[in-house]
Amino acid sequence: MRDFVLRGGTVVFPDRPPEQLDLLVKAEKIAGLLSPGEPVAQDVAEQSARGLHVFPGLIDAHVHFGLSGEKITEYATETAHAAQGGFTTVLGYFLNNEAYAEVFRREQEHAHPRAHIDYGFHFSAANELHISELESYVRDYGVTSFKYFMNFKGEEGRYLGLDGTDDGYFYDLLKEAARIGKGSSKVTIVCHTENIELVNRIRRRLQAEGRNTLKDWSASKPAFTEAESCLRAMYFAEHLGARIYVPHLSTRMALDEVRRWRARYGEVLVETCPHYLTHDEDSDLGPLGKANPPFRGADDVNAMWEGLADGSINVVGSDHVPRKRAGKDKGIWQASQGFPGIATILPVLLSEGYHRGRLSLERICDVVTRGPARIFNLEPSKGRIAVGADADLTLVDLNQERVVKWQDLQSYADYSLYEGWKLRGWPVRTIVRGLTVMEAGRITGAQGHGRYLWRRLGDAPIPGRQP
Ligand SMILES: [Zn+2]
Repeated sequence: MRDFVLRGGTVVFPDRPPEQLDLLVKAEKIAGLLSPGEPVAQDVAEQSARGLHVFPGLIDAHVHFGLSGEKITEYATETAHAAQGGFTTVLGYFLNNEAYAEVFRREQEHAHPRAHIDYGFHFSAANELHISELESYVRDYGVTSFKYFMNFKGEEGRYLGLDGTDDGYFYDLLKEAARIGKGSSKVTIVCHTENIELVNRIRRRLQAEGRNTLKDWSASKPAFTEAESCLRAMYFAEHLGARIYVPHLSTRMALDEVRRWRARYGEVLVETCPHYLTHDEDSDLGPLGKANPPFRGADDVNAMWEGLADGSINVVGSDHVPRKRAGKDKGIWQASQGFPGIATILPVLLSEGYHRGRLSLERICDVVTRGPARIFNLEPSKGRIAVGADADLTLVDLNQERVVKWQDLQSYADYSLYEGWKLRGWPVRTIVRGLTVMEAGRITGAQGHGRYLWRRLGDAPIPGRQP
């Protein structure tokens, strides 16, 4: 009943130039890539994508669930927000000190009836239990990627209610991850790279001097503290044969280390976030712009664009945190970290990247579809337009100009970093497994259409399998 043929669009691929193609959608899957106007045997409805570019459904591999004030309903609000931005899949992070059985059950109870788009989870590894249960998380919950905070060491970890870990723990975690992997299908350890011992000393000094601006927040975490930690993570990963993923990479110094290291060991993958492409430490956003990592220098912003263009950055993820502005309106050292960002990823990449000649459509497509799909075991059903893949499609008007208003974006958060920015290039329709969930800024799909993505090693994820 959701079968249709989508005619007149220009299909975007990650590895070849865009092509005029019609797409046949049957039973939630892509059933054919057709020459323009090619007749189809079946009697199916015709839909138009004339004048639009058709991307594979976008994937945001870096979202935080559970941090808003409305934990129960955020799967509805934040997946509606994602659909507004053309996203058909999100992967959310959890950080817990307990075993994940109860966390998984609770989150599914919240998410399953409410999600507008497909979703999966990353767990964090924070104590010995998590290492011993790692293999069961892959098997029992379809989770194949685990976050490790190199900055939650000892005291810092205990302050956050965690056991607190060290490099010995990190070593054992990578070793176990490498053991579980199946051939080229690997468990990915997502490493927050930050030398917190340095950062703490620098921060105390700045605070003693009474410094308190957004730029001081940046100064408390110099590029070296990211680059050195990144280097350590890569050294460990190579030694143990593990695959690591550096999220929210933000400095030229760290990116250069990654480029050098890959000459000797390739299993190092990198993500940056849209705000490291658009904001620097001289931003006048004040505490609203507080994130970790912080905004960096203008040269680092250029480095992120270069890294996207030359392929050394594999993914763009939002690091979306749906909190209210009230939590940000505090002194810089007390303000909460992070901000909303899923729905503005594509307009930022198109407006500031494609239209300024910095990025091709192929590269943009890669970093928000195939890149995350490959790394996080979502292929072959996600991240591509091909026969047999899920009919997840994002229809984009490359030339539509809109002024960003946070209300239009439908997050629980009541602001956007891009408020008032005029961006060119917006998604106008989001299709998840054949169902249109967003059209022209209106949410059209029902809550609960989204399915949990049961990821597997060496195989396709199973959408909708329930515990
Ligand atoms: Zn994050």
